[in-house]
Amino acid sequence: MRIGLALAGVCGLAFAVPAQADELRDALMEDMPELMEVYKDLHANPELSFQEFNTAKKLAARARELGFEVTEGVGQTGVVAVMKNGDGPTVMLRADMDGLPVNEQTGLPYASKARGVPESGVESGIMHACGHDTHMVAWVGAAQLLAERKDEWSGTLVMILQPAEELGLGAVAMLEDGLYERFPKPDYVLAFHDAAAAPAGFIGYTPGFALANVDSVDITVKGVGGHGAYPHTTKDPIVIASSIVMRLQTLVSRETSPLDSAVVTVGSFRSGAKHNIISDEAKLQLTVRSYSDETRAALLEGIERIAKAESMAAGLSGDLLPVVEVKDPYTPATYNTPELTADVAEVLTARFPGRVFETDPVMGGEDFSQFRRADPDNVQTLIFWVGGVPQDQWEKAQAGEAELPSLHSPFWAPDAEKVIATATEALTAATLDLMPRSGG
Ligand SMILES: [Zn+2]
Ligand SMILES: [Zn+2]
Repeated sequence: MRIGLALAGVCGLAFAVPAQADELRDALMEDMPELMEVYKDLHANPELSFQEFNTAKKLAARARELGFEVTEGVGQTGVVAVMKNGDGPTVMLRADMDGLPVNEQTGLPYASKARGVPESGVESGIMHACGHDTHMVAWVGAAQLLAERKDEWSGTLVMILQPAEELGLGAVAMLEDGLYERFPKPDYVLAFHDAAAAPAGFIGYTPGFALANVDSVDITVKGVGGHGAYPHTTKDPIVIASSIVMRLQTLVSRETSPLDSAVVTVGSFRSGAKHNIISDEAKLQLTVRSYSDETRAALLEGIERIAKAESMAAGLSGDLLPVVEVKDPYTPATYNTPELTADVAEVLTARFPGRVFETDPVMGGEDFSQFRRADPDNVQTLIFWVGGVPQDQWEKAQAGEAELPSLHSPFWAPDAEKVIATATEALTAATLDLMPRSGG
């Protein structure tokens, strides 16, 4: 998913590993050359959503070697690796596995040449353009460090590899396949996402709502077609749909509290075939973003009401009223449990001085949200950002000399080493903090 970060005030700060590196960091630095080999392999061999067969197989084998009890094929291609280590809480670490139908143009020596057919049916190059390869390598890195440190924690560690995040379907697929029934249910779930709008090695966290509800809505506006020279004999769907588009703008500006964030964007408007023919149909495609369930419901109700009312204003009724279709399933808003977020932020701030920032929520979406929604009273969740922009590019962008590629861009090439090192250490340190040896 696409995200953005507003790290005001960090420009120009150089990345530096503090001098007082500790035992955990030393061990990680020893692992890094091998982790970078895993990264290059995953980056060169991306797989599309729900087709992550080889990715899952390779990493499942690795987790088995580390002593995890591993189950494959959970939610189609998902992997669940469990390590029981005495009494204490259950912590789940999640990484997503899918690449995107994007033709890589980074020019990297290990750039992907893979091709495949996504759900659209149109063959395409495949690329880890969202950085899920960095997520998986940090997952491997954390699994290694935690497996080697069983005497430093007590509890149950559940490490999952999730398919199809880009379709917003993989988390639900794993949950529906019994993730919380067949395996130990987590008290805490942690994940990170790389960020294309923050310098490499910086960490951003947002307590509470961090990412939005994402709905896709189709509106089919009906009309009565005819000759362009005799408009009075028709009901012009382009005029009606235009009124709908303009009126939809009032949902956010006039009906939603100015303090409550929401977006209604009409991304596609299609109708007609020729200059002098009035069409009998117009099709609109919308993306609708919000945080709370209440705002989401109000926006969706408002879209239906406005579409119908504008058609009625044009004199249409019955079968000629518009059809409004909310696509299912939607991606619900991601909520970072404030208590867990505060605890982990404290650990990370101590470990990475000057590199950890509270950031604004974004209007992108992540199906990581599903892991909390499945049992909001008992499962606390946190997803944080790890900046990936190479330092030299960051400085050029700050000086106005370069534009930074976003996530999903064919040019997105994060400083993978810094992302992986930072995220591995962050996930490991947070997990150790959540599962102290005393079990308390
Ligand atoms: Zn993405
Ligand atoms: Zn992503």
